Amino acid sequence: MLKKLCFFVSALALYVSGTVSTSASAMAWPEGIRMNLKVCWATSDFLEEKQWVIEAVEREYGSRGLLRITSWGDCETMPDANLRITIADQNAHTKGVGGALDQVEHGLVLNFTFKNWSRSCKSKLRECIDGISVHEFGHVLGLADTVIPSADGSTSCEGIQIAEHNDATAVVPTSFDSVMNYCNPVWRSGRLAPSDVELLTRL
Ligand SMILES: [Zn+2]
Repeated sequence: MLKKLCFFVSALALYVSGTVSTSASAMAWPEGIRMNLKVCWATSDFLEEKQWVIEAVEREYGSRGLLRITSWGDCETMPDANLRITIADQNAHTKGVGGALDQVEHGLVLNFTFKNWSRSCKSKLRECIDGISVHEFGHVLGLADTVIPSADGSTSCEGIQIAEHNDATAVVPTSFDSVMNYCNPVWRSGRLAPSDVELLTRL
């Protein structure tokens, strides 16, 4: 158990250090883009994993009318894609929040192999890809992480500081069961909390 916990904490530290930039700049997508979002893959192959992402995003966001992705394709053929996704074996992260991601290279980085980062995911690939995608698409839609990382980027969930305000650049979910709260033990559940849905509906 302790070993498991240590791994969780170290994975968390990695995760946090990689996501500090996430809340740096943000703005909501204009409605016209959010409901007509073009998404492209900058990395080839991984067809099955990509399908899992598409299904997770449709299940949690699309089916609730929180966003509508009108095309998924290869970045080479979609120079004007709004969201550009790169697959790499590193911490999953976004390079901004919401509309700040528009047409940004490597705007969203997802991990499909977990050889270096979050290695426990290797044995539960679909579960991790599904859950992490739902979290990262929370950023895509304009949500920041719930927990304020400590200044040095390393943190544990003991004595966590929950953000309390919506700042000018990002909406911060403040309920513990949010998929944006990685101190929530089931933040990788791949299921938006009711409070997440409520917040996103107002964006
Ligand atoms: Zn995050």
